[in-house]
Amino acid sequence: MTAPVRVRFAPSPTGRPQVGNIRTAMFDWLFARHTGGTFILRIEDTDVTRKVEGAVEYIMEGLKWLGLDWDEGPDVGGDYGPYYQSQRLDLYKQAAERLVEQGNAYYCYCSPERLEAMRKEQVARKQPPGYDRLCRNLSPQETAAKESAGIKPVVRFKVPTEGQTGFHDLIYGDVVFENSNIDDFVMLKSDGYPTYHLANVVDDHAMKISHVIRGEDWISSTPRHILMYRAFGYEPPQYIHNPLILGPDRSKLSKRHGAMSILEYRDDGYLPETMFNFIALIGWSLDDKTELMTRQQLVENFSLERMGKTGAIFNKEKLDWMNGVYIRSLTIDDLTQRALPFLDKGLPENIKRPLDVDYVRQVMPLIQERAKKLAEIPELTKFFFTEELNYDPALLIAKNMTAESTLKTLEVASQRIQPLSSFNEEVLEALLRPLAEELGIKAGQLFSPLRTAVSGETATPPLFEMMEVLGKGRCLKRIDEAVAKLKKLSS
Ligand code: GLU
Repeated sequence: MTAPVRVRFAPSPTGRPQVGNIRTAMFDWLFARHTGGTFILRIEDTDVTRKVEGAVEYIMEGLKWLGLDWDEGPDVGGDYGPYYQSQRLDLYKQAAERLVEQGNAYYCYCSPERLEAMRKEQVARKQPPGYDRLCRNLSPQETAAKESAGIKPVVRFKVPTEGQTGFHDLIYGDVVFENSNIDDFVMLKSDGYPTYHLANVVDDHAMKISHVIRGEDWISSTPRHILMYRAFGYEPPQYIHNPLILGPDRSKLSKRHGAMSILEYRDDGYLPETMFNFIALIGWSLDDKTELMTRQQLVENFSLERMGKTGAIFNKEKLDWMNGVYIRSLTIDDLTQRALPFLDKGLPENIKRPLDVDYVRQVMPLIQERAKKLAEIPELTKFFFTEELNYDPALLIAKNMTAESTLKTLEVASQRIQPLSSFNEEVLEALLRPLAEELGIKAGQLFSPLRTAVSGETATPPLFEMMEVLGKGRCLKRIDEAVAKLKKLSS
């Protein structure tokens, strides 16, 4: 019988989680949901010097935004808590002491100065760095002397000096390290805090973790963990190390490639659906070609076997494309609701708030095809909301037209629009297309000044649809303003 799947995301609250961390959480979550297992959030906050205020909240908010809900964790509790390592210090201390008693670990009294001098010497001699094991064989008398001098020791693990330590990784296969390359690492610091290694092993065992999914950068720590598992007499979990995420140029992922912390994507107007789909496909694939997958499809199809050693590429262009796809798939009501906070924040301050939600709803279909991110929507739509358009009147003048001919054209257009009793796309089309013909100009020579007049811009949604949403009053006012600008220009 295999043990039930219990996986944990174990972030250290040292900053804002990046895509790589979140991908780990996502694989944990997908694996748990696919197998009907348990997803645990554990905060590894024992490195007091690196703790960042607000990081835990930020991590939780990011996970929640993506819908990565945890079954056990700091706020929801669970049978294996507490889920903050800083609240489990006694457990680590007892575990370390147990290994000392068993002869698998020892107290080390070396001062930071001595360790630093040792390190410098190793560098100078081009020797591999690592503790020289001075305290490994202290006699009881020597130990007693150090103790009575009041020196607070650390606890180090006694790594065998010979042989090998290996483990089987689901992605990397059999990984083997020479014990001679592993130094007697610290398990418990002199202030009573555990190191990552000790706390990680103690908790993974105590919380009955079945699979450890984490970044490849932890591979070199794993043999130390295996050694500790053996010393404790515990069964180690299954290991699944994920390759680091790379940019399209195969260099380490950085800001330059468009990498940000998770909530920055939210604030930039990426949809959580997009991020979920996109991140899940960094290093996992269904069949090497399927790009669009819903959360449900990912849960149904997720398997550890299809995680790869390669292909963990972060492609910002793909992300933007995918977000466009998801934005286009939203209903207008949904898009409106999601766009509102962005409009509120991004539209010029002089635009009256609260925004008219019905009007926003009318505007949305016009930009749904074009918007790649929600944060672009204010810029794409601001002319729908603003009272005053500031544009260069020269933009009103189409090819082979002059200020005067444009002015006349717009005046006629305005006159013809005025009596319209209904003002919609079809009516405008039926009115304006023949008008160009009547005036003996090309359609573009009428439409392009009209477009600029009503929007102040040259690239916009389709003219008639846009005019319909803007409404007759606003369009006429703007056409008249354009006429006035042209008059100034030609006088
Ligand atoms: N606290 C470690 C981190 O921040 C956890 C690594 C692991 O999953 O073992 O990534």
